[in-house]
Amino acid sequence: MRPTGKLHLGHYVGALENWIALQNEYESFFLIADYHVLTTNLDTKDIYQNSIEMLIDWLAVGLNPELSPMFRQSQIKEHTELNLICSMLITVSRLERNPTLKDQIRDLHIQNTVYGHLGYPVLQAADILLYKGSVVPVGDDQVPHVEITREIARRFNKQYGNVFPEPEPLLTKFPRLAGLDGNAKMSKSLGNAILLSDEPETVQKKMRKAAIDPNKTKKETPGNPDICTVFSYHKFFNPEAAKEIDKACRGGTISCFECKMKCAEKISEFLSPIIEKRKHLESNLNEVKDILADGEKRAKQVAVKTMNEVHDKMKLG
Ligand code: AMP
Repeated sequence: MRPTGKLHLGHYVGALENWIALQNEYESFFLIADYHVLTTNLDTKDIYQNSIEMLIDWLAVGLNPELSPMFRQSQIKEHTELNLICSMLITVSRLERNPTLKDQIRDLHIQNTVYGHLGYPVLQAADILLYKGSVVPVGDDQVPHVEITREIARRFNKQYGNVFPEPEPLLTKFPRLAGLDGNAKMSKSLGNAILLSDEPETVQKKMRKAAIDPNKTKKETPGNPDICTVFSYHKFFNPEAAKEIDKACRGGTISCFECKMKCAEKISEFLSPIIEKRKHLESNLNEVKDILADGEKRAKQVAVKTMNEVHDKMKLG
């Protein structure tokens, strides 16, 4: 996950929920992809702080650093080395067809794509393969990247001999959470996100502006929950009442304001223990930094071992 600062509900729904469940089942590696940030933002002055903020969110939602190392990509040089090798195993035209790249170019109004951005999934492949990942729990925007990783692994194994498993994407039940503005993806850079650290007043304020069925202009007008962003949040954060809300919306017996405030309340209920844990960690920053240092030490050992195998197979050194 890229450290772009505090995380939002989309990260939780699309990825973290899965990570929390899987940490007990699989040997897991949680990567802070601080080089990947450079693909869309060259300003690195906040990168360390953003990494710490993200790590705090991970710990606050319940990831356990004793089970799984948490570490920064930039601190383990093997990522960049394997990235270079992977970059020889995939064509430019294959990378140009990547739909996630096309979405980003459109959404972020990128005029000229840098070489590193085109290579985003190649570095991601290195991140996954270095730890011989067999499954990658991601949101659906990342599935094409896992597919590219599989192709690179296959190509390497065929050329030099078996080192890498072909990883599978593992989607959550809700692989994509829409943004407050109705955009298909909640994203911080699009300014349409509810953060995991947002206090109830902020959630309420943001929810007031959330996209709804534009035809439902007053309470009595029947609405269509299928095209309402707020309803999509109800489905995740208020599943017990979703059916009832669906009926009330279609029947014109609930106003959008009422529906939004119910939704805000449910989201804040969900966020409350996360915010509490976050506050504890914020006042114990040394604990957070120790977790990072320990994770980097553990990840490095695995990375070095894999690269030794790669070197052997490639007859390098
Ligand atoms: P990113 O911040 O783009 O590096 O995303 C980190 C992880 O969170 C990836 O697995 C994404 O698929 C997931 N993710 C980010 N935003 C959303 C969203 N709005 N809905 C679902 N998953 C998301």
